[in-house]
Amino acid sequence: RRQPALSSREISSSRKRRRTLPVDGSAMCGDCVEKEYPNRGNTCLENGSFLLNFTGCAVCSKRDFMLITNKSLREEDGEEIVTYDHLCKNCHHVIAKHEYTFSIMDEFQEYTMLCMLCGKAEDTISILPDDPRQMTLLF
Ligand SMILES: [Zn+2]
Ligand SMILES: [Zn+2]
Ligand SMILES: [Zn+2]
Repeated sequence: RRQPALSSREISSSRKRRRTLPVDGSAMCGDCVEKEYPNRGNTCLENGSFLLNFTGCAVCSKRDFMLITNKSLREEDGEEIVTYDHLCKNCHHVIAKHEYTFSIMDEFQEYTMLCMLCGKAEDTISILPDDPRQMTLLF
């Protein structure tokens, strides 16, 4: 897990808008995965691939390691969004587009993941420090 730099960040108290599934579906075929957007509970991947859900490339029918390309990080309304593509190592077919977001709402960090291959997940954890020394500094 990444630790955000709290000092330089405005903590917004506004609830963020709910995200909707990406509709651009253009490059994704959905035939390379066992199940589209499987529910992963609170397992949000910022990196890597959920290989268990990969049945093999629908184009070249190889089940090889995947490449990760087009990785980018942008910030929108105080929300950090990491996106990348899962690519077939053999024929460079785009297997899925991965989106990971990180934001701070009130005293919580919120993580989300949305990927046809890796699935969807949401995690919310308190940013109140567990360290008792930091606790005493707060009060
Ligand atoms: Zn495919
Ligand atoms: Zn392929
Ligand atoms: Zn993914």
